[in-house]
Amino acid sequence: MQKICLLGATGSIGQSTLDVLARHPERFLLQAVSANHSVDRMLEICRKHRPRIAVMADSEAAARLADALAGEDIEIRSGEQALVDIAADPEVDTVMAAIVGAVGLMPTLAAVRAGKRVLLANKEALVMAGQLFMNAVRDSGAELLPIDSEHNAIFQCLPNGQTRGLKQRGVSRIWLTGSGGPFREWPLNRFDAITPEQAIAHPNWSMGPKISVDSATMMNKGLELIEACWLFGLPESEIEILLHPQSIIHSMVAYNDGSVLAQLGNPDMRTPIAHALGYPDRIESGVEPLDPVTVSQLNFEAADENRFPCLRLARAAIAEGGTRPAILNAANEIAVDAFLNGRIAFTRIPQLIEDCMQHIESHPGDSLEQILADDRAARERVRRRIAEDLA
Ligand code: NAD
Ligand code: MG
Repeated sequence: MQKICLLGATGSIGQSTLDVLARHPERFLLQAVSANHSVDRMLEICRKHRPRIAVMADSEAAARLADALAGEDIEIRSGEQALVDIAADPEVDTVMAAIVGAVGLMPTLAAVRAGKRVLLANKEALVMAGQLFMNAVRDSGAELLPIDSEHNAIFQCLPNGQTRGLKQRGVSRIWLTGSGGPFREWPLNRFDAITPEQAIAHPNWSMGPKISVDSATMMNKGLELIEACWLFGLPESEIEILLHPQSIIHSMVAYNDGSVLAQLGNPDMRTPIAHALGYPDRIESGVEPLDPVTVSQLNFEAADENRFPCLRLARAAIAEGGTRPAILNAANEIAVDAFLNGRIAFTRIPQLIEDCMQHIESHPGDSLEQILADDRAARERVRRRIAEDLA
């Protein structure tokens, strides 16, 4: 029995994970789950999946959940320390890190430091603290398996799950594919008027609101570029972003003998989730089998940094290194939140990020305190700029 801690159980990845787990009751036991404040959803999860521990981010939500679950054998906790505790719980073998954003960093890092098998969906954690994170993986012997579909695809195309020394193993290049989101062909002069509803309507994937906006600006691909550099120990110059509107190929690895390996499948996150949960075995995921005749065509185009300036900003951030990616990520989180709340235009997102990158000094990326300080500075600056815009 593999004992699972699922961080972010109520989200899109959380739901897909619960779906896969429920297909294999003989293999997996749900030790702990967490959510932010959706009590009703958490209550349903507790009743259906019977975790031993449920953590809510705020104590008020936890109290309501505890009321609703009175007399049932589920322990309710709340707060940031509780997240760290369930991630590092000696009972737990595998942690699914599916909290969105920088708040996922501490529990994910705790899981890594405790030497768990860590299923990483929370790309922001790695973007913020890549150096620290990968050092902790090395030191603790944690097993890091990528859930992001592109990185999971790349992992599947690497020789025997090896993620280090890829040059010596003949890898010449990685193609990180992305659909281009809803605005790949949208007239540029209408970008200013893009609404949150239009931005979160992704053509191929159903995801949480933050990553959906990131897909629309293509910051998602930028964050994924940074994520790939850390996961596979490669410089950004060896990773190319490629638009592939059908989202059937999830990424490709080119070798020095001319071979290119790709992983294909219907766009459904249960595939990478099942791959990582079962690894190295293959387990059933519930995903519809791919029908190549129905798909019929696979198209590719170069990514346009003029249309999607976030791609350029993310590449510059990882090329500079240190805390620069943490600054980029923090600025993006605040800007996306403001866009979702109707406070800024879609086109303001990259401008605010660039402003932060120009005005906030970066530092070496090996200290957690420094990363968190630069993250805070970026958030404060973007909030201030937005308040000025609105004044
Ligand atoms: P989501 O918004 O659907 O879910 C986020 C989860 O995080 C929820 O369970 C929520 O309760 C929890 N959460 C949010 N804020 C919190 C806080 N302050 N404290 C504690 N918990 C909090 O997001 P998602 O689409 O499931 O994405 C989760 C992560 O996975 C993101 O980092 C995203 O980039 C990554 N990811 C998602 C997909 C996808 O298809 N959805 C694909 C690849 C990677
Ligand atoms: Mg992805």
